Amino acid sequence: MSESHYDVLVIGSGFGGSVTALRLTEKGYRVGVLEAGRRFADDELAATSWRVRDYVYAPRLGMSGIQRMDLLGDVLVLSGAGVGGGSLVYANTLYEPPAAFYEDPSWAGITDWRDELRASYDQAKRMLGVTTYPRRTPSDEVMRDAAAALGVEDSFVPTPVGVLRGEDHGVGPGEDIPDPFFGGAGPARTTCTDCGSCMTGCRVGAKNTLVKNYLHLAEGAGAEVHALTTVTDVRPLPTGGYVVATRPSGGVRAGRVFTADQVVFAAAALGTQKLLHRLRASGSLPHVSPGSASCRARTRRQSSGSGRSARDGTAPRTSARASPSPRRSTSTSPPTWSRCATAPARTRWRCSWRRSPIPRRACSAGGSGCARCGATAARSSPSTTRVTGRSAPSCSSSCSRSTTR
Ligand SMILES: Cc1cc2nc3c(=O)[nH]c(=O)nc-3n(C[C@H](O)[C@H](O)[C@H](O)COP(=O)(O)OP(=O)(O)OC[C@H]3O[C@@H](n4cnc5c(N)ncnc54)[C@H](O)[C@@H]3O)c2cc1C
Ligand code: SF4
Repeated sequence: MSESHYDVLVIGSGFGGSVTALRLTEKGYRVGVLEAGRRFADDELAATSWRVRDYVYAPRLGMSGIQRMDLLGDVLVLSGAGVGGGSLVYANTLYEPPAAFYEDPSWAGITDWRDELRASYDQAKRMLGVTTYPRRTPSDEVMRDAAAALGVEDSFVPTPVGVLRGEDHGVGPGEDIPDPFFGGAGPARTTCTDCGSCMTGCRVGAKNTLVKNYLHLAEGAGAEVHALTTVTDVRPLPTGGYVVATRPSGGVRAGRVFTADQVVFAAAALGTQKLLHRLRASGSLPHVSPGSASCRARTRRQSSGSGRSARDGTAPRTSARASPSPRRSTSTSPPTWSRCATAPARTRWRCSWRRSPIPRRACSAGGSGCARCGATAARSSPSTTRVTGRSAPSCSSSCSRSTTR
């Protein structure tokens, strides 16, 4: 077999791709992972979101950062890019779904999903090092008051986060410790300093990104990750298997061509949809169901912003802390953006799924703080419908309001 042949090729190195790569490698398959973004060492992540070359992903413009932005009608879709996918840019919150998810009539009759999925959630929590955020700031108190006013104060709980906290290991913030999660098979780590820059990329190394767990272990077991490699075509071979064409990300010329017995599409919701539609239209994969176009998001993720700077007396924290739930299907969390991460705040995006049965809401991003410059951002979060809070940053007072209503 050629060096470009794999038993399984995985497109995308985010959550789906990394888990797939590890588990298949453990089962003895030769696995290749094709990732459009670049690989980052912790200290190569952007020091501030104004360093757009390292923060924004727009390879044709010479930017290969971690924040992918796609305009879909009047919706700006944010997702991750880079080896580790969305884990590089996400806000570390790792919730288990509320009861409404398990009880959805479209599938509740099939089995007891809570019971069915319990072992998988437990396993994923262990792998991603989930802990609860232990601290509170003034904005968390505001969220608790809001929850109390809505009569749901009991739903105000600390946010589960995938972060290495010193408290959990008997050490202080910013301490180097040997692999705390995988008995020495994982990388050495540094504990969280509460700098609040999780969504710019954790330069400390405290965020439990996929390169610290699933992907690290997959590569250790033999999986090969090809960074800066954008998949452009996937065609079945007459003899079985597939030929996968790529181009160097940002380039125009064709790149390496791989073959594989099986191909897993894990290029995120939008990336996979785009690729599959293109492959169907070009005739490469003519049997892709046109029905995939009618997939709709049933839940919405929304950025709601509130932020304060250190000058207001709040201190930097991880990107999300406590999470009240005004309704059974609602979860909110006030996120933090460090003061060094103000670029997205200037953008003031509106986000909503146009076809969502839920009324649309505007969101205004706000934020602040970081250890590097000493400010903070949003923290806890009540919501109103199906909202998992995330906010865009800014230290400016004009960003200290949420327009969620
Ligand atoms: C700012 C932000 C904050 C978030 N915060 C949270 C949070 O706190 N909690 C939470 O649960 N979720 C959060 N999310 C959402 C979370 O990141 C995603 O749900 C998750 O990453 C999706 O995983 P995935 O495997 O589907 O795709 P991703 O993790 O996005 O990985 C897909 C990968 O595929 C690559 N790719 C795409 N197209 C191609 C191609 N053609 N060829 C090769 N590679 C390709 C991409 O570069 C990317 O690296 C956040 C997202 C953002 C943007
Ligand atoms: S708060 Fe800072 S140190 Fe802690 S996980 Fe986020 S970016 Fe890393």
